[in-house]
Amino acid sequence: MRLARAHGCAIGACLLLLVAGATRANPEPPALDVDEAAPGVFVHMGKLLPLDAPGHDDIANIGFVVGSRCIAVIDTGGSPRIGRALRAAVKKHSTLPICYVIDTHVHVDHVLGNIAFKDDKPEFVGHAALAEAINRSRSYFLEHYAGDFDAPPNANQIVAPDKLVATTLQLDLGGRRLELRAWPKAHTDCDLTVLVQDAGVLWTGDLLFRERVPALDGSAKGWLAAIDELARTKVKIIVPGHGPIARDSASAWLPERNYLQTLIDGVREEIAAGKSIEDAMSHVGAAEKANWKLWDSANARNVSRVYQELEWE
Ligand SMILES: [Zn+2]
Ligand SMILES: [Zn+2]
Repeated sequence: MRLARAHGCAIGACLLLLVAGATRANPEPPALDVDEAAPGVFVHMGKLLPLDAPGHDDIANIGFVVGSRCIAVIDTGGSPRIGRALRAAVKKHSTLPICYVIDTHVHVDHVLGNIAFKDDKPEFVGHAALAEAINRSRSYFLEHYAGDFDAPPNANQIVAPDKLVATTLQLDLGGRRLELRAWPKAHTDCDLTVLVQDAGVLWTGDLLFRERVPALDGSAKGWLAAIDELARTKVKIIVPGHGPIARDSASAWLPERNYLQTLIDGVREEIAAGKSIEDAMSHVGAAEKANWKLWDSANARNVSRVYQELEWE
């Protein structure tokens, strides 16, 4: 989820954050709580928090997969501090080396912890478009999330992938394989899923939101197409980018599919009736509101995105 323009703070509060950041000594955080969703597959559940709340660097589901030879980390959290806390959780469960850090997409809540793993010298793996997307986001991250960086904030703390996936890629952790798949534009333009083949665990990144209202930064139509394909994938456990782990593929994807379809249908009606983007943002999707938490953090912006996508179709 993108902690986007909505993540504002009053100037005074921002100054306080900056002062606090400047005097912070980056102490080692305690290990994150992780659940073993399947043997050797550990997930830390992100918190369901508003975008501007304290702790917003810990809202994404992140974790790691342990093979017989080495470990792959999947997403690293929204700050170097969360990355270090995830690394501490890894070290608590295994002494094996960390050979891969996989980023599911560019959003800050998933990638800003990468730096915590730099000294492990893993390969940093992401979608073919991710390195460029991170480069584009550097100044945005520094401007909007300065308080989440280690002090003093600087672009060197933002680590981009060095191993890029154009279509699919298999990674061998020793005794188990991960199948990575790069998707066409959907939640973002750089979404990557990870299937832990032997355990039947599908790690969706933000292609799946549960409970928390989805945030659209790519293509609504592309996202629907990805959902339809992913919902057909036979898996036992689904780890969404946000929200609880699911075990039934068909029901897991349905609410998000309904939400996106509602936005597409609603926006098409508005455009056909000659309504403005502001009109559409004020009410499209309202029928879905009761199904989602943190609605105001994303719906109107999603509607504007869909409007711009469908305007010329
Ligand atoms: Zn996210
Ligand atoms: Zn996201």
